[in-house]
Amino acid sequence: METSFTVGRFAPSPTGYMHLGNARTALLAWLQVRAVGGRMILRIEDLDHTRTRPWADAALYPDLEWLGLDWDQEYTQSQRLEIYAAYLPRLDTYLCSCSRKDIAEAASAPHGAEAVYPGTCRFGPIDPDRPLAVRWRVPDQILTVHDQCLGSVQQGLIRDVGDWVLRRNDGVFAYHLAVVIDDALMGVTHILRGADLWPSTPRQVALQQALGFVTPVYTHVPLMRDFRGERLAKRNGAPSVAALRERGENPQRVVADLARSLGLDVPECVSASELLQAFDWRNLPSLLNRVQ
Ligand code: GLU
Repeated sequence: METSFTVGRFAPSPTGYMHLGNARTALLAWLQVRAVGGRMILRIEDLDHTRTRPWADAALYPDLEWLGLDWDQEYTQSQRLEIYAAYLPRLDTYLCSCSRKDIAEAASAPHGAEAVYPGTCRFGPIDPDRPLAVRWRVPDQILTVHDQCLGSVQQGLIRDVGDWVLRRNDGVFAYHLAVVIDDALMGVTHILRGADLWPSTPRQVALQQALGFVTPVYTHVPLMRDFRGERLAKRNGAPSVAALRERGENPQRVVADLARSLGLDVPECVSASELLQAFDWRNLPSLLNRVQ
């Protein structure tokens, strides 16, 4: 990893309070970048106004500060709509009037799997009077993407992903489009994020290639599980950082607990910057491979 060129980011979606699982991923992203003296960006991913909560946005700042995680620059996606709009014409797209229901009916996806768009509107929207989404006509390409911990995965864009929506029919830009443009324009070199995003990495890499952007180094980290082995999630009532902070918990104890959950041998209380002194980013893959 090149010290002077390392740029990482926190990219929270303010859809609820940050929970311990989010905090652990943020801590790792920060350690990976700060361990080599790199720059950290905070990017608020608030494009989907149907899911964003203003109070969640407001809690993010004190939560990160309380954990001892800092950043050098900050962006908010909802203030960058013109940028995303400017990139759309560079891609081969078409207008689509299909609803989720239409797609589910037309595509035969195995139970639980994401339906591959069957291409219904490829030659013009079936019902132009409906609100129209913008879909990317994906290139016929087999992509291999690489992750520092998970190895490589291959996806056929047409077979496994299908043409996907870049702008929804309510005008909201797709998360995948915004993330790819932002990471490139912000000079992000290292992306460390939850393993739930690994399956959608090939489509992001495809977009990077289509737009002529460099692919960053990816590290997808295991999501934290509770004592029942279930993934911590805002909706399952996982403890929020804000609640711990408000009830006067010692943040260094919380950081130490997070570090221990990663198999690190640390004292009962440790600050993020103390952890940084002991952190060797070269051990990250072997560390994460041991964590479940
Ligand atoms: N905003 C996304 C989330 O909170 C993360 C995006 C990313 O790290 O690429 O799930």
